[in-house]
Amino acid sequence: MATAVTHYTSYKARPFTREEREKVTILFGGLTWKHERLVQGVMKNLNYNAKPLPNISRADLDAGKELIDTGACCPTIFTTGNLVNFLKSEVAATGKQATIDNYVFLTAGACGPCRFGQYHESYEMALDGMGLKDFRLFLLAQDQLDQGKEKGGGLEINMHLSLGIVWAILCGDILTDMEYLTRPYEVTPGQTDKVLQESAEYLYEIFRKRPIHGKKLGALAWHFATGYFADAMRHVRKMWDKVEVNRLQVKPKTKITGEFWLQTHEGDGNYNIKRWLEQEGAEVMPPPVAVWLGYLLHTPIWRLEKKKDKDRRVGLKIAMIKAFERLYVGTYNRFRKAFGNVPYELPDQEELKDLALPFYHYELRGGEGHMLVGKALHAYKHKKANMVCELSPYSCMPNTMSVGAMANVQGRYPDLLYAPIEIKGDAEVHALSRCQMILTEAKKRSQSEFVEAMAKTGLTPEKIRQIEAKRPELKRATYRVPHLGYASTAANYVLHLAGNKNGAHA
Ligand code: SF4
Repeated sequence: MATAVTHYTSYKARPFTREEREKVTILFGGLTWKHERLVQGVMKNLNYNAKPLPNISRADLDAGKELIDTGACCPTIFTTGNLVNFLKSEVAATGKQATIDNYVFLTAGACGPCRFGQYHESYEMALDGMGLKDFRLFLLAQDQLDQGKEKGGGLEINMHLSLGIVWAILCGDILTDMEYLTRPYEVTPGQTDKVLQESAEYLYEIFRKRPIHGKKLGALAWHFATGYFADAMRHVRKMWDKVEVNRLQVKPKTKITGEFWLQTHEGDGNYNIKRWLEQEGAEVMPPPVAVWLGYLLHTPIWRLEKKKDKDRRVGLKIAMIKAFERLYVGTYNRFRKAFGNVPYELPDQEELKDLALPFYHYELRGGEGHMLVGKALHAYKHKKANMVCELSPYSCMPNTMSVGAMANVQGRYPDLLYAPIEIKGDAEVHALSRCQMILTEAKKRSQSEFVEAMAKTGLTPEKIRQIEAKRPELKRATYRVPHLGYASTAANYVLHLAGNKNGAHA
């Protein structure tokens, strides 16, 4: 007798209807609290109830491990556990059915060799384990700005939503740059965090009140052309003008790279390593989400270039992508300009590819691809940072390949200070002590840079204080110290004050 076969069926969310929109809250997460607050403003602007999940905690790792494949990468375990713990608390407070009815979860999706393409499978497995199979998950594909209405019409992933999220991310990146450029040097402890909070709240309102113009191309044209967001950023800049800094403190600049979620995250998921580095006396160079979006935008060009001989329209398509890319980078630069160009510029995607190419091929997709190698070499060759701290998730295939390639890079560039930190979520002491070893070397480097800059310029701390007394704008967080060939801020500051325009190694 033939046995009945139960075929695998992929997850399908039950409909989220238009009528439910007023009473259902859309949950989301995965970025920093600043980005998430602005995204919340975008959702509110489109009349959705939305709220970010609580920030990741160590307890989320344990909850995730209990319910999904234990071989999963640590970001998958953390983020699944985060959703699980939130839903558990809701079930305890309001019961299963109310939790299923009152919330849906919106998460980014993709395809490719890494688990990012299968996050929703882990969520589904966890929901099944919790007896919440009917809870609804929706995917926001990273490469489709206009996905239309999800079944039921309660959620519409259209241009207004997607563009709002992208613009919120760009503004969130600028705020994050300002935060990490300022806090290590703030004169009044806590002032940076206070202004940051006020800035995020102000921008939340800007996104909540965003005017809705056009449909598809019309909405796109409005976002690129409007002064609405740049004006708001100029207003925020005035808040930062009030923060006083002391840039004569010598701190090694530490660039954070690594897997997307781990490098972006600020909390237990990466041992709060950015705050920890600051406490250890470093200045952190945070990774903007905008670089990842720039990568997604640029990579089709490389695929199209291979078809040039077969398809005559390829040239036109490439030109269109490049034009779109210029608008994208131009928008980011408008926001930087609103802050006096203090936030960092975005690296050129072609340069990242070329730097990485001898070590990691750009067609190897998955995770951050070749960018991990490219970013480390970019920081090293342009003297943008004294050291690179790379956050690698435990059990991540793409990242393991990059770390392997970095061994070759280090062989070629032995003085590149590189700290690859494997993050498991529960081995903090090992990870941080490993980072500390490289940080000690980076501190020596930043000290030597400072000593060299002082000797070269003949300035003394007293003379510098006199200059600052005459030019109080120098002590503002929004004063731009140009990059004059040193990695650390203090050395560049000294050179700048001496009026040396030729750079440290001229
Ligand atoms: S890049 Fe690695 S850590 Fe990130 S989702 Fe993919 S497999 Fe997991």
